[in-house]
Amino acid sequence: MTGRYVRVALDHPLDALYDYRYTLDACEPEPGMLVRVPFGRREAVGLICEVNAHSDVPANKLRDVGAICAACPPLSAPWLALAGFAADYYQRGLGEVALPALPQALRDPSRWARLLAPEERYRLLPEGRAALPDALPARAQALRRLARALADAGELEAAEARALHPKAIATLDAWCEAGWVEHECIEFGAAAGAAGRVPAAGAAVEAPRLSDEQAQAVEAIGAASGFASFLLHGVTGSGKTEVYLRALAALLERDPGAQALVLVPEINLTPQFEAAFRTRFAATLADEAIVTLHSGLAEGERARNWLAAHTGRARIVLGTRLAVLASLPRLAMLVVDEEHDPAYKQQEGLRYSARDLAVWRAKQLGVPVVLGSATPSLESWWQAEQGRYTRLTLSRRAIADAALPTVRLIDLEEERRRGRASFEGLSGPLVAAMKARLERGEQSLVFLNRRGYAPVLSCDACGWVAGCPRCSAYVVLHKPERALRCHHCGWESRIPHSCPDCGNVDIAPMGRGTQRIEEALASAVPGARVLRIDADSTRRKGSAQALFSDVHAGDVDILVGTQMIAKGHDFQRVSLVGVLNADNALFSHDFRASERLFAQLMQVSGRAGRAGLPGEVLVQTRYPRHALYHALARQDYVGFANAQLGERRDAHLPPFVYQALLRAEGRTLEAALAFLAEAAGALAAVPAAERVTVYDAVPLTIVKVMNVHRAQLLVESQSRAALQATLRAWQPALRALRGVLRWNLEVDPLDI
Ligand code: ADP
Ligand code: ZN
Ligand code: ZN
Repeated sequence: MTGRYVRVALDHPLDALYDYRYTLDACEPEPGMLVRVPFGRREAVGLICEVNAHSDVPANKLRDVGAICAACPPLSAPWLALAGFAADYYQRGLGEVALPALPQALRDPSRWARLLAPEERYRLLPEGRAALPDALPARAQALRRLARALADAGELEAAEARALHPKAIATLDAWCEAGWVEHECIEFGAAAGAAGRVPAAGAAVEAPRLSDEQAQAVEAIGAASGFASFLLHGVTGSGKTEVYLRALAALLERDPGAQALVLVPEINLTPQFEAAFRTRFAATLADEAIVTLHSGLAEGERARNWLAAHTGRARIVLGTRLAVLASLPRLAMLVVDEEHDPAYKQQEGLRYSARDLAVWRAKQLGVPVVLGSATPSLESWWQAEQGRYTRLTLSRRAIADAALPTVRLIDLEEERRRGRASFEGLSGPLVAAMKARLERGEQSLVFLNRRGYAPVLSCDACGWVAGCPRCSAYVVLHKPERALRCHHCGWESRIPHSCPDCGNVDIAPMGRGTQRIEEALASAVPGARVLRIDADSTRRKGSAQALFSDVHAGDVDILVGTQMIAKGHDFQRVSLVGVLNADNALFSHDFRASERLFAQLMQVSGRAGRAGLPGEVLVQTRYPRHALYHALARQDYVGFANAQLGERRDAHLPPFVYQALLRAEGRTLEAALAFLAEAAGALAAVPAAERVTVYDAVPLTIVKVMNVHRAQLLVESQSRAALQATLRAWQPALRALRGVLRWNLEVDPLDI
């Protein structure tokens, strides 16, 4: 046999592919298959990208493929193209994109056999159905349970059977002998596309009648042929989820083997969505045809769900941003809910935008993509303005009687001038409104985007402020945990009793976080059951879910929390939302800060009055005349977005220009800045760089984190293609530079 060679992508920061000799008899290598190969002194898992008849690498340098994952169907050409595009666009190596996109368990060859084991099933035959009930002694409880499960479902997987009875397999084998049961061993992935078990009929909940606007949206999505991107702009509570559900149902009716990908911004929102999808599709899809993919899943489960998508068994994949890279051979529709959410941007490693990749996938495959939001990102809004995305509008709330909430601004200066009482940052009108809700048995929600007790602990006498020894940042006082904590690096210490500089015992917390507001609420609204939801109160796995259920069950009168409580939840009895401390973001140096603040406030306002109770939003501010608050009071996204776009256009900011950031981390700030200056010099020598503007290197706002100093360099162009070409050509020079601990390049950065 003539030699065969495979070219393999490895998770390694050079954008190179590596040649190996292929001598295994197990199976024919194909692009998209996983292999185990020697790499340096260790073994690595790689992805075959090409199979060739020869290699330019000298024979004595070539090494052999150690093993091939034959049981796993190869990743498809479109998937490899997706990884290739992402690598190219985000300036990474193919292997650095493709391998981390696979579930961890699949990147461990020792787990291949188990993960990809053939599936064993036992099916009940008519003879067995007739004979079994009488053949079992009444005392044999466990056996009877096994027989019943088999009769109910018609068939059982070996694993399911084992869970019912430890000796289930031996018993089932005996029943096979008796001619009651049939045993089937299906090679992994061979069952792909089969509908699996017949779903339990009748469990589905009837779908509501669509509003005219919803019906139009569903129809438009269904009528799309080929690639189409829809921007579903629907006010909060307008029933965007219902539009997704109907569009998916229509898709699956047309093509029962089709797959759809539904992205949500946060893990905490997946259970709510999953439940809605499972009940709706209970009559048409097998249970296993709906899977979730997010980082909260245990490794084994994540791998199984990923494989279900990869083999085509899963029809609907519901996930967070990482799911956008799932392998879906029959992908026919994509949905990105809350498409404006910054959580769709990965902030480390491959810094991709899941929303943008979703649109790219739709275009590649020629299928529709639906981007839904009450406050679309300005990028998407601008696409719609130009007619590239089709806008679908839901202007009213879906439930009869549910109107949008009224927004009232509470002028804090005015409150102070008039000497009105306030309670630890809670203004009189807000407290009164919460008391009224408590009396009526309705819920209130207090939104404050700052966790901890107080952001600063300081000494009045000498001016000392508690700072982090490793970061250029203050540490946050956490009262229940009795600690000072750095929110940037996690450094922690006990709360000092006196000022470490002058000994003054009167050191005081300044400013307010969620913990302090929680404490204040207890005395401001006596008798109210207060619950705080933030990253601190939900640290344990699954605890967020438990806390949210308490809210839904009505065991909470006042919910206080960070943006965790603002997103997507369909709280039925919340009729009041209070917003504290929003002013900070009005004057940020980040040009996206107002867009983000507006979206957050619209989002959190949207939690009020969803189920027909009239909703009210009270915003405490020192700037009641600010345009952003006025747009909020009118719930006027369109006016706000168009004004912002005008400003962005005048100031030459995205989406009218394209940006990339080079970030450097050094032992000193000088080292980081020097690296960036050299990088800027190298960029000038790159061809096509004349269409790109390079700004001066600047320190990050929080310059030092974990004793590492950080700075960044902004690169910008009117032309996306010119920026891309320049960045690519710049890479070799960047790799050659030394003097910093780390650097990274981010394309389309969100935080500047
Ligand atoms: P959004 O995602 O747009 O904020 P949701 O999808 O959460 O809104 O829907 C808000 C509420 O309206 C949900 O309780 C949902 O069940 C309900 N709903 C959606 N569509 C309809 C409809 N056509 N008729 C009645 N209720 C609906
Ligand atoms: Zn002091
Ligand atoms: Zn720190």
